[in-house]
Amino acid sequence: MESFNIGIDLGGTKTEVVLLQPGGTERYRERVSTPGDNEYTAIVKMVCDLIIKTRRSVSEQSTCTIGIGIPGTIDSEKQVIQNANITCLKGRSFQKDIEKKLRQPVTIENDAACFTLAESLLGATKTYRLIFGVIMGTGCGGSICFNGRIIKGSHGIAGEWGHFSVDPNGDRCYCGNVGCIETKISGSGVEGSFFKKYARRLRMHEIVEGYRNKDPQCVNAFNRFVEDFGRCLGGLVSILDPDAIVLGGGLSNIHELYDQGVKYVKQYAFHNGIDTPIIRNRLGDSAGVLGAALIGAGKSME
Ligand SMILES: [Zn+2]
Repeated sequence: MESFNIGIDLGGTKTEVVLLQPGGTERYRERVSTPGDNEYTAIVKMVCDLIIKTRRSVSEQSTCTIGIGIPGTIDSEKQVIQNANITCLKGRSFQKDIEKKLRQPVTIENDAACFTLAESLLGATKTYRLIFGVIMGTGCGGSICFNGRIIKGSHGIAGEWGHFSVDPNGDRCYCGNVGCIETKISGSGVEGSFFKKYARRLRMHEIVEGYRNKDPQCVNAFNRFVEDFGRCLGGLVSILDPDAIVLGGGLSNIHELYDQGVKYVKQYAFHNGIDTPIIRNRLGDSAGVLGAALIGAGKSME
């Protein structure tokens, strides 16, 4: 009997599914919009419909493992979602609700863990042992991978660096704290503080463009963003001292992070001779969905 692996990457705006054949070759992939009204039942239904549709592309005799990456963390003891930037998932037994509908076991995992595992097994950090993966997109997440396995920690929050509070006078974060790293170096964080300071509603890519075109307000905001990036990653290097850091999410395409940003990382790390490679992802948008499929297949969790 053939066994296939389904991976789902549940995001705030889009959700993707992939089906891997035995051996890992991709057989099917689809991307849909995530229901936009933050309504839990609609999200459960969308995920289940996508899985049912995907399963139809293989024979009924085949088995499929299912892994789902979510933008949040899971309380493994209580089996509920502790915190998520799709806020309707918070406090919900998402895994059980999906299993009930599908009548089969599924694995759910934080999306940064899915990303880091995929890049570490198949992508940019394949040749390193201790890897920290960072997703910088609308939000900001992190995960630790050691020898091809995700480190979870005793409460399942290892790598939740995005919610490290670095500024007691900073902006409030959805997690309940103020001045989290996410409020400093994620797209929504930079956009929010730009609006607060200049009363101009610009998207992150417009702020980056403005910086490159020498708009003084954008230059100011961007310089602060790059320095915050260095401060946040420099602190991380001082604690974990990984062999490499891999960056994912939309903001990982900002090329200035790999020169100016890295200079600040060196400045803020405890040891100024650090040469930790800070690498752009190789799998692009696919890392999350591939990592979810790997995790569903039972590959590589502590
Ligand atoms: Zn937070």
